Amino acid sequence: MRQDQEDPYQRRSAQVYAAADRAGSGSVARPRPILYDAVLLDRDGTLIEDVPYNGDPEKVRPVPGARAALDRLRAAGLRLAVVTNQSGLARGYFTGEQMRAVHARVEELLGRFDAWLVCPHDDADGCDCRKPAPGLVHAAARELGTTASRCVLVGDIGRDVAAALAAGAAGVLVPTPVTRPEEIAAAGWVAADLPAAVAEILRRQQAVQPSDLPTEPVRTALVVRSDSAGDVLVTGPAIRAVAAGAERVVLLCGPRGRAAANLLPGVDEIIEHPLPWIDPTPGPVDPEAVRSLTARLGAVGVDQAVVFTSFHQSALPLALLLRMAGIGRIAAISDDYPGSLLDIRHRVPVGVPEPERALSLAAAAGHRLPDGDEPVLRLRRNAVPPRPADLGDPGYVVLHPGSAASSRACPPELATRIVGALTDAGHRVFVTGGPDERAVTAGVAAAGGTDLGGRTDLAGLAAIVADAGAVVVGNTGPAHLAAAAGVPVVSLFAPTVPFGQWGPYRVPTVRLGDAAAPCRDTRAASCPVPGHPCLSGIDPDEVVDALRTLAVGGGGGR
Ligand SMILES: [Zn+2]
Repeated sequence: MRQDQEDPYQRRSAQVYAAADRAGSGSVARPRPILYDAVLLDRDGTLIEDVPYNGDPEKVRPVPGARAALDRLRAAGLRLAVVTNQSGLARGYFTGEQMRAVHARVEELLGRFDAWLVCPHDDADGCDCRKPAPGLVHAAARELGTTASRCVLVGDIGRDVAAALAAGAAGVLVPTPVTRPEEIAAAGWVAADLPAAVAEILRRQQAVQPSDLPTEPVRTALVVRSDSAGDVLVTGPAIRAVAAGAERVVLLCGPRGRAAANLLPGVDEIIEHPLPWIDPTPGPVDPEAVRSLTARLGAVGVDQAVVFTSFHQSALPLALLLRMAGIGRIAAISDDYPGSLLDIRHRVPVGVPEPERALSLAAAAGHRLPDGDEPVLRLRRNAVPPRPADLGDPGYVVLHPGSAASSRACPPELATRIVGALTDAGHRVFVTGGPDERAVTAGVAAAGGTDLGGRTDLAGLAAIVADAGAVVVGNTGPAHLAAAAGVPVVSLFAPTVPFGQWGPYRVPTVRLGDAAAPCRDTRAASCPVPGHPCLSGIDPDEVVDALRTLAVGGGGGR
């Protein structure tokens, strides 16, 4: 035991209450789950009713269904930790001994936890463990022998979810009457209560694990992901899963996704062709082009096709072409009735992160990520060129103001102020953008950053992103490049599509912007609201604070 060895009020790190003899207890040999090793639970309002500054074990009341829900997690082999802010310690409202008596009572009622992580500090202490800081989440992951990205945290307020995201963990909000509406709007994953959160955690965990292997071997698999770079990048884990179960993988993508397709591991061959029923600005359907695509797909020798789509796209037009190309086994997600177009018609509830949504389709088609391949975005190492030598040391901040959809872009005026604030805080800032965004990046960088607009292709941008300390970016491709490099993201996220589906995946993230703005869930490509209020209201100091939360240091001077 490590508690009681020093005065908790002198400490700036979390108190850990984990008995060594509990580590590994009750674990049985079973395959490592693909998504999560552990569930972290907030205490007050999540596991037990919130009694402010409670030091009395008699007042412990579990929330309805808590014991059965926790036992379901235990039975599934997930490890459990409590992560709790207890500033009442700092304020002297109860003693450490009283708190431990409360925790003993919690375990009496709810069963044992593998670790207890307590932040004893107050907001004024500036510690790195008081939620929304990510310290408790990292400490819990360490205690449980895993990493934050393999943890999911359940909590009842925005601080809990923010701490999870800042650590790169998943966060589920289970609102109570004290949860603020804006916290509910900002959360990417909301469940009605603890039992519902647990049910969805287990469902997602199960959904990426195939129940059946393919009945016949797959020599050549055709995987399909049309649309833009970001769409292709988030499908990467699922494509790797298919690649693990097939001898050869051919990827059909559109022109706007081609550069990203070149970066994906597991792809042996790429066919590039626009699909007019997917493209946001589609050309007319050209019967000759459709005939030529069908002929080309027919010549591939496909044993199995897996058609990946976003939740608002239909796989069925392509499925018809694949049938006409003579392809016998086709899997896709389809809410629409597919008739005889699909062999495996997969369904996914709304709100699932796009990479997991795709992984669950791969699983339905009989494929899973092999052990040791984490379900994170990844790029082929030899596809990314060396970073330009003139950029200096790693650790700079990349600000990428643009987006193919202007509704998801950071307003240039705001981006300019962000560059100024970051520069003042001692950060080196590189402003990136495509060749058609040069005017914007030059203007934005003039506030103190370095303009790299138009200087690189997507692979070159991936190289620059990979050595960044953090990337400040809207909901667009480079956010997923950052996730693929494990680089923290300050996400200026316009809520036109759900954050839970499109937020940076399994990488430390701070979400900024008004999640309840009127553009929410409109999928609008250009902002339908005058003034682009979802993002224009961001204060540049929020970005500076976010970098501090993500432990991205400035260049000094503070
Ligand atoms: Zn703390």
